[in-house]
Amino acid sequence: MSNDRADISGPVRVRFAPSPTGFLHVGGVRTAMFSWLAARHYGGQFILRIEDTDQKRYVEGAEDDLKASLRWVGITWDEGPDVGGPHAPYRQSERLPLYQQYAHQLVEMGCAYKSWSSAEELDVERKAAAANHQPPPLHDRWRNAAPEQIAAAEAEGKPYTIRLKMPEEGSTGFYDFVKNQTITFENARVDDTVLLKSDGYPTYHLAVVVDDHEMGITHVLRAEEWVASTPKHVQLYKCFGWEMPVFVHVPDILRPDGRGKLSKRDGDVMTN
Ligand code: GLU
Repeated sequence: MSNDRADISGPVRVRFAPSPTGFLHVGGVRTAMFSWLAARHYGGQFILRIEDTDQKRYVEGAEDDLKASLRWVGITWDEGPDVGGPHAPYRQSERLPLYQQYAHQLVEMGCAYKSWSSAEELDVERKAAAANHQPPPLHDRWRNAAPEQIAAAEAEGKPYTIRLKMPEEGSTGFYDFVKNQTITFENARVDDTVLLKSDGYPTYHLAVVVDDHEMGITHVLRAEEWVASTPKHVQLYKCFGWEMPVFVHVPDILRPDGRGKLSKRDGDVMTN
């Protein structure tokens, strides 16, 4: 499936990939419903994948609740954590070695770098930028570290993160199925996002690309809020040399009073 055309001709594999950080709201159900409809209409597969890599925001019972919410509105999945499938496991916390292996591969390829910056150091830099009315720094100082510095840090054996090495020049574009146009971002405005955290967990950005590729996802249907992250994902697809899925960003649902996006606290599907 090519990324620059809107036609749907091959087999369709779509997924709903919620994070178990709260209850499913109506926006999530709508996204799941669109994916499910596409899979059923085109005779493809609908996959449920649990994106539980943010352990700090993990809510006990949220996975069961969201599965119950989906079943309640009649959405069934062909592959998922409870039903299994050819790409099991479907819970990201059970796939950590895969992400670690790909993160290290990116470092070897020069598409990512290790950073030993501490959370405190990064916080100081962020605050200094804010005090000067500047946006947070896009790059980490380890991006251009000398090989001896890196060797010394490796020898110390301290924990590190792995960050994407976003090109500083040029731009990254991708076709969006809903907008029916190419959306382009200047690379110089995209940050070197963290891909692998110091605890060995991937961030969303690495895990989503690895899994969408490994699971053969043809169309990534998700909320508009992820548009700004997509250039990072496109850069990862390019680094790995993987074929990109078609991106389908559906508009966010706003709160009834129009003040911002619907959050997990508003408009839960199940109220019990
Ligand atoms: N885990 C993300 C979320 O809950 C999924 C975004 C995506 O579908 O790529 O919003």
